Amino acid sequence: MTVKTVVTLPVMAVGEYLLNALLPRRCPCCDRGVASGLGLCGTCWRQIRFLERPWCQRMGTPFTHDVGENALSPRAIADPPEFDRLRAVAFYSGPAKDLVLALKFARRRELAEAMGIWMARSGNEFLGDSLVIPVPLHWTRLWQRRFNQAADLARVAADISGAEYAPFVLKRTKRTQQQVGLPAKERIRNVRRAFQVSGDQLQKLAGRRVVLVDDVYTTGSTVSACTKVLKSAGAGTVDVLTFALADPANHEDVDRSD
Ligand SMILES: [Zn+2]
Repeated sequence: MTVKTVVTLPVMAVGEYLLNALLPRRCPCCDRGVASGLGLCGTCWRQIRFLERPWCQRMGTPFTHDVGENALSPRAIADPPEFDRLRAVAFYSGPAKDLVLALKFARRRELAEAMGIWMARSGNEFLGDSLVIPVPLHWTRLWQRRFNQAADLARVAADISGAEYAPFVLKRTKRTQQQVGLPAKERIRNVRRAFQVSGDQLQKLAGRRVVLVDDVYTTGSTVSACTKVLKSAGAGTVDVLTFALADPANHEDVDRSD
């Protein structure tokens, strides 16, 4: 370390501290001033439809009334998912949708911190000593977007919960069409054979509890395709953690997300 670096580092740290103390905190959704750096303003907070218990043990979707600890929704019984459990922070609407779109398309990567903290709370049943794997982008899309929003969220959620962040286990080998606007059957066909486990990561995966992370859960076709690949490569269990969940009752959400 040079003399110049030694002198500069503390000065920069103090400068950053002062700047943070002086800058007004803003709500990440609407940019109104708020008291805490990670918090939403009261207006946005009230508009977010958080997913809360009682919920379907499998899909994490809330019930309107308490039907017991391990109850399953009719959807989970009629069409059981490939993965073990799904948990999400909020329904994909209002400020929650704004956050997802701002992170992904407006490249507001700083939002991943607050979103990842909420996700760590929603996934606390299974994060523990798991292997946290983000849904990967194809390298050409990663090159265009410069970052993978699922990886940003996964890294924060893993850090907070003490889980192992493992971004290189799963890779996307097929550049798929964007899922936006595709009907459910087309989505399944679109992501079929799109993912692979890297050969040099097989040992890491053997028998492990995996938490697969994405920004939004829509029809589940992407995470289901990933789950199949992970389980056939030796993963013990695969749970899914996303920031938002498209409300199956709201077809507009389902058609437009992802
Ligand atoms: Zn706000």
